[in-house]
Amino acid sequence: MTGSPDVIVVGLGGMGAAATYHLARRGLAVLGLEQFGPAHDRGSSHGGSRVVRQAYFEDPSYVPLARRAYDLWAELEAAWGTPLMQLTGAVMVGSDASEVVAGTRRSAEEWGLAHEVLSADEVGRRVPTLAPGADAVAVWEPAGGFVRPEEAVRAHLGLAERHGARLAFGETVTGWRSDRSGVRVDTTAGRHDAGRLVVCPGAWAPWLLGGLNINLVVERQVQYWLSPERGIEAFLPDRHPVFFWEDEAGGQLYGFPAHEGPRGGVKVAFYHGGAACTPGSVDRTVHQHEVDALTAFLRPRIPALGGTLLRTAVCMYTNTPDRHFVVGPHPGAPRVTVACGFSGHGFKFVPVIGEVIADLVIEEATPHPLAAFDPGRALPPP
Ligand SMILES: Cc1cc2nc3c(=O)[nH]c(=O)nc-3n(C[C@H](O)[C@H](O)[C@H](O)COP(=O)(O)OP(=O)(O)OC[C@H]3O[C@@H](n4cnc5c(N)ncnc54)[C@H](O)[C@@H]3O)c2cc1C
Repeated sequence: MTGSPDVIVVGLGGMGAAATYHLARRGLAVLGLEQFGPAHDRGSSHGGSRVVRQAYFEDPSYVPLARRAYDLWAELEAAWGTPLMQLTGAVMVGSDASEVVAGTRRSAEEWGLAHEVLSADEVGRRVPTLAPGADAVAVWEPAGGFVRPEEAVRAHLGLAERHGARLAFGETVTGWRSDRSGVRVDTTAGRHDAGRLVVCPGAWAPWLLGGLNINLVVERQVQYWLSPERGIEAFLPDRHPVFFWEDEAGGQLYGFPAHEGPRGGVKVAFYHGGAACTPGSVDRTVHQHEVDALTAFLRPRIPALGGTLLRTAVCMYTNTPDRHFVVGPHPGAPRVTVACGFSGHGFKFVPVIGEVIADLVIEEATPHPLAAFDPGRALPPP
């Protein structure tokens, strides 16, 4: 690439890497800027696995995006030539009225997605590691599974480079400006000009995206890898689904099959409920009281996971008050497209968000449903 790029993408994590790829593939000269290295572990896109599912308990309006994302995951995997997505089925356990059970059923029914409702006994028979109480039920979604986040970031970045994108790592954006003639981005290495700007800063959004009227709260989240007491076999991905479990108090835990083999263990984590933090000061040490809370949740429900804690990794969610994403033109700067506020559920949509961003930059419109994600919506702090 010589001269100014058509578009600069700031932040090459999950979303920015996908945007860079889709923009470059569609013929734009793209410059990607990232403060850390490729597929690093200091943002929101690390930890080896992310749940993918289509029967979306959070809101049925995400189903079309989830379906398109599945097509794009398969295309990405084929283009990159390394496994990225594995469909193991997903089982959502809770009371009949719990968000994960009722919400999954609602989405599946509304969109005609394959699913089965299972009694507690049926869950125990199908997934013997799970021990639901007699009053629990579950929804089984055969299309559920997981993707590999670091490899997905590497795939998007590698393919973007094949399409001519220029990527700069270890370069921090310190400010940006946009006017009628173009955009200017200042970094620790100098200054870049371009026609358009895409900002995908993850947990750094509160600092890099002033001018939004959406209160973003960064939340600390711990991923735990456990070695099951009686061996890993029952958790291998050919016989174990991904799972979500909601308790009586509304606490939600999810986990994955042991896709990294015996040494990798079984990864589990809570969905929300973490402390507010900032990317600069997030506590990366995991404390005994957190491990105790995890053990208390698991002991009656997944007793086979009562083994050794192998390792932990701290990650961050960037939450909006309505838990909907923020994707679209910056309300104060039409040459700037923003993608942030993924509220802990963005990764499964990474490739389709990349496609949406390319649509918005190139066509100024997209066929995908984005109304709920309007960056101009007003969501001040409560
Ligand atoms: C523990 C955990 C579990 C999750 N599980 C799931 C799941 O199972 N399913 C699911 O769908 N989603 C899940 N998510 C959510 C999902 O991973 C995130 O929504 C997604 O990774 C967000 O991607 P991002 O690109 O916005 O952020 P990131 O990947 O963090 O990328 C932002 C990038 O911007 C860079 N950056 C920021 N500021 C600057 C600057 N000034 N200059 C240069 N670069 C900058 C950062 O360094 C970073 O690389 C989970 C998240 C966590 C933390």
